[in-house]
Amino acid sequence: MPVLCSCCAEKRAVLKRPKTGHSLCKECFFCAFEEEVNQTIVSAKLFKPGERVGIAASGGKDSTVLAHVMKLLNERYNYGLELMLLSVDEGITGYRDDSLETVKRNEQQYELPLTIVSYEELYGWTMDAIVKQVGLKNNCTFCGVFRRQALDRGAIMLKVDKICTGHNADDVAETVLMNVLRGDIARLRRCTAISTASEGEAVVPRCKPLKYAYEKEIVLYAYFKKLDYFSTECIYSPNAYRGYARTFLKDLESVRSSSIIDIIHSGENLSVREGVKMPVQGTCNRCGYISSQTLCKSCVLLEGLNRGLPKLGIGKHNRLHHKILSRQPLSEKEERKLKSAEF
Ligand code: SF4
Repeated sequence: MPVLCSCCAEKRAVLKRPKTGHSLCKECFFCAFEEEVNQTIVSAKLFKPGERVGIAASGGKDSTVLAHVMKLLNERYNYGLELMLLSVDEGITGYRDDSLETVKRNEQQYELPLTIVSYEELYGWTMDAIVKQVGLKNNCTFCGVFRRQALDRGAIMLKVDKICTGHNADDVAETVLMNVLRGDIARLRRCTAISTASEGEAVVPRCKPLKYAYEKEIVLYAYFKKLDYFSTECIYSPNAYRGYARTFLKDLESVRSSSIIDIIHSGENLSVREGVKMPVQGTCNRCGYISSQTLCKSCVLLEGLNRGLPKLGIGKHNRLHHKILSRQPLSEKEERKLKSAEF
């Protein structure tokens, strides 16, 4: 006996919503998903009419659904936004080059202008070259730090007021877990925020319209809408720390379906005890980007790469940063330590 949609009670249900357990037909699922994203945007006041908004587009399911839904809601509810796509080319052969082809098709499909900024142009290094030097253990640290800054640089170039990213509920819950596991209080406090304010001229405010959308529902939405997206994993991802947090989260979810939203709520409600020392934000002496140190992480990582000292920006080498940047000679032991690609 076919199950009827629990919303319209007319059409046959084609899926059971992972978030609510309701059996829905395609149209009612689309409607519920889009309306929830609209509610997230409206209740958090993510945008103002007339704003230029850059959609961070990787060609993956999250950013493709984000671009599709942002365009649709902007028209349906007259948000009055000027939308554009912004992509970062990390220089990963066999992964990013293929996914960027998808973004280029999305540019046509959604009639949104696309800008691509690349690591090679901005830093003189591709991720392929970085992995050759640093190996596969800490490559994602380089990639994540460079991407954050690359997006900001692209956004400043495009003069956008905000960047929206495709981070979904699973991503936010994973980040909460990772920050707990690392004991990173400063990031733990920030990571559940749905939007970040501008932290100086070099940083454009960011927001996450899909913050409460479950990954499983994003996949279902993309599948039933037949969206054109790229689904291959990054070839350098197997060792990413996030991967372990993701597996752990999936295990938790299999025994308790509300785990994702519960972890997000826990993160939102954590408060930091008075007196806990927080990093003070300043600007990088070299490039002007926000930093709590004399040099931002990106400049330190780059310096390490350019000098053949890949460990420079990894771990606690602040004393050595100072030595290197003020051109003081390193001891043999220090040099050996920083040269080793084995972290
Ligand atoms: Fe970059 Fe790591 Fe993500 Fe690959 S998995 S795109 S190397 S951060």
